[in-house]
Amino acid sequence: MEIELFTYDCIGCGRCVEYCPRGVLRIVENGMCCFVNVANADLCTGCRRCEKACPTKAIHVNKPDYNFFRRKRI
Ligand code: SF4
Ligand code: SF4
Repeated sequence: MEIELFTYDCIGCGRCVEYCPRGVLRIVENGMCCFVNVANADLCTGCRRCEKACPTKAIHVNKPDYNFFRRKRI
């Protein structure tokens, strides 16, 4: 799973962290602001709850296209 973060759009509200059932995301703080980061990418199931919960569209989850190579051969 590819998790894309648009850090400039993130307001650090933590909704994505709250809604993720797998503990994939976390909020980090750099002394000036808070923003989301990926803690355990391997645990992501691609459910996209984080995406739907985000008020600023700062997180996108892309599932790999497993049929890509099969389609290319046809
Ligand atoms: S897609 Fe689902 S499992 Fe993956 S980070 Fe978002 S909420 Fe968590
Ligand atoms: S829900 Fe969106 S704005 Fe809030 S912490 Fe997550 S990515 Fe950032």
